[in-house]
Amino acid sequence: MHYIETTYSSATQDAIDLEWRYGAHNYKPMPVVLSRGEGVHVWDVEGNQYLDFLSAYSAVSQGHCHPRIVNAMIEQAQRLTLTSRAFHSDRLGECEKFMCEYFGYDKVLMMNSGVEGGETALKLTRKWAYKVKGVPANQAVTVYATGNFWGRTLAAISSSTDESSTNDYGPFLPGAALVPYDDLNALEDIFKKNPHVAGFMVEPIQGEAGVVVPQEGYLKGVRELCTRYNVLFIADEVQTGIGRTGKRLACDWEGVKPDILVLGKALSGGTMPVSAALADDEVMMTIRPGEHGSTYGGNPLACAVTIEALRVVEDEKLAENAEAMGQLFRSRMEQLQQKTSLVELVRGKGLLNAIVINDTEDSSTAYDLCLSMMHKGLLCKPTHGNKIRFAPPLVINEAQVNQACDIIEEAFLGSQF
Ligand code: PLP
Repeated sequence: MHYIETTYSSATQDAIDLEWRYGAHNYKPMPVVLSRGEGVHVWDVEGNQYLDFLSAYSAVSQGHCHPRIVNAMIEQAQRLTLTSRAFHSDRLGECEKFMCEYFGYDKVLMMNSGVEGGETALKLTRKWAYKVKGVPANQAVTVYATGNFWGRTLAAISSSTDESSTNDYGPFLPGAALVPYDDLNALEDIFKKNPHVAGFMVEPIQGEAGVVVPQEGYLKGVRELCTRYNVLFIADEVQTGIGRTGKRLACDWEGVKPDILVLGKALSGGTMPVSAALADDEVMMTIRPGEHGSTYGGNPLACAVTIEALRVVEDEKLAENAEAMGQLFRSRMEQLQQKTSLVELVRGKGLLNAIVINDTEDSSTAYDLCLSMMHKGLLCKPTHGNKIRFAPPLVINEAQVNQACDIIEEAFLGSQF
């Protein structure tokens, strides 16, 4: 195992200083400056190699710079990149058909960032409420779970329970209601009380909240309640989708089909922003020309990349690998838990996992541990103070998982916290 110098050369420091000087201070990155990636590895400007255990928040599931995805991108980039939706392209229909057949929906609406996928789902839900369900004008309510995270737009933070996301950004969008996550009684209660509820948007596993896995049966229960009360079940699978949790979709673990499926991140294998909302015709056909869209949404480059990125997941059996490698990772971490009281909890599914650190949310323990792991060659980042998420590219092999677990173990057992 190689150890990385803690003092930075001017290449690292200069790059960090440049961002600090000219960029908005809306992130606090780990102090490493990356310049290259391949598979599960990234390299910094000093030439140090790391195992990437964040994968750009689960976007680089197919591994950094996957040659098939990069080739599809280059080929398409040399032919046609953007038409806008003012004209048809020879790639859009092909990609839409591919996605609908892949995920089992009548139609898809392609956007760019994950939050735009969520916004699209929210707009579809409201349209459906007025056009199909018969909710009186401007009365539609969408329900969200506490601890949710679906991005940074005003609609997204209007449903957020995280103060650092919402502070000083009000007033917020009306029509959002909250219920506790993983609580079917509370969900039924709000459905019963309010006939204007149009949809329930929920992450099958809450990623940003610290990989919170609901009890078995929760998603089935959500499906049943949504059907019974004529409410759309919107699954935000931006982080959990496309093999991450060991199945094509996290909803597949309970065999449920959401009314609207939101995808992003790994849809492009980490090469460019591509997101989508998928639904059957009863929902999707409520939107008519001119009522929603985006200049870049469904562009030919995104289409070429998306088809290849999804094919790679199938051809390389990445969901199956995520399941097998995830089992190995969690069993190693459970062994670690026996050796140190720092590990309060190990949780996750497939290759979306987290360790809850036995310390308060405002402590720096998790961050210090991440720094220590970084110096030993593994990159990850705390989420919500005392939780560390571990989400490597799904192409990781057994030797690499074991190497990562050795590093994590060394950091935890060698720590002075
Ligand atoms: N939904 C979930 C579950 C996410 O985890 C995220 C981002 O982390 C988003 C939506 C927003 O995606 P983006 O950052 O691409 O807008």
